[in-house]
Amino acid sequence: MTVIQWYPGHMNKAKNQIQARLKLVDIVLEIRDARLPQSSRNPLLDQIIGNKPKIIILNKSDLADPKITQQWQAYYHRRQQPIVVIDAQHQAHLPMILTAIQERLATKITKYQASGVKNYTIRAMCLGIPNVGKSTILNKLAGKKIAVTGNRPGVTKNQNWIHTSHYLDVLDTPGVLWPKIDDQEVAIKLALSGAIKDSLLSSLDLANFAWGFWVQYYPQILEARYHLSATELNPNLNLMFEKITATNEAAGDIDQQARQIVQAVRQGSWGRFTLDRVTAND
Ligand code: GDP
Repeated sequence: MTVIQWYPGHMNKAKNQIQARLKLVDIVLEIRDARLPQSSRNPLLDQIIGNKPKIIILNKSDLADPKITQQWQAYYHRRQQPIVVIDAQHQAHLPMILTAIQERLATKITKYQASGVKNYTIRAMCLGIPNVGKSTILNKLAGKKIAVTGNRPGVTKNQNWIHTSHYLDVLDTPGVLWPKIDDQEVAIKLALSGAIKDSLLSSLDLANFAWGFWVQYYPQILEARYHLSATELNPNLNLMFEKITATNEAAGDIDQQARQIVQAVRQGSWGRFTLDRVTAND
């Protein structure tokens, strides 16, 4: 398997650019993929933003397993970390974001109100790894298609404010950070959800992981798709190739079958899924 390296130089550049922009805002909207609430974050983000207030936005909730999304919401509530679950492709969910901001910045907003400031503005910036939906969210918040600038790690452009229909202004330049792809399991999960390119990992590694995961968490989907009984289902994909070829669902050699499996997962043909799980100790 190819291991992707983190480049400390690039990371530092992105970090400096983000920190420069942080000075302009009251709050950070950290966008993550609801299918990967942990793996789609940059583990250094909290260190980079320091004590700047933060709201986690779990986007693409339409693709995630709703039961597990609820568990993640509870997980972050227990930690008093505001979290909003959205599906930006279909709606902006501005009221939910505003409510979360109001709660997180209650002291500041109360101060504005107490001193009679009616037309206050809260300024925010989006942060997140590539492909989590930052541009889509910014477009929805703007209420029109805008050119989102700087949506690549380490790109500096002039920034403008997106004025939403309420008191929230958002920078049109999202902060982009890399996910932790030097962790093999994180890389596989990101690739399966389409966040990173196929070419970085072998389809066989991805298909093996997906098969084992679905056998553990979503066995009924495999049983139905591949006409298998619960007892026939084996978490080892190598032992299943013959059986699944017989269904014609996956045909060709092992590599072709693996590619078909990866494609099926990404297209949502294996149903909604969440690859990061809240564990019993969480
Ligand atoms: P960015 O790189 O973070 O700016 O991500 P984009 O906004 O470009 O989105 C990446 C891909 O995810 C695009 O194909 C979007 O259409 C898609 N996308 C964004 N938000 C959602 C969502 O809530 N649900 C689904 N299903 N797809 C989404």
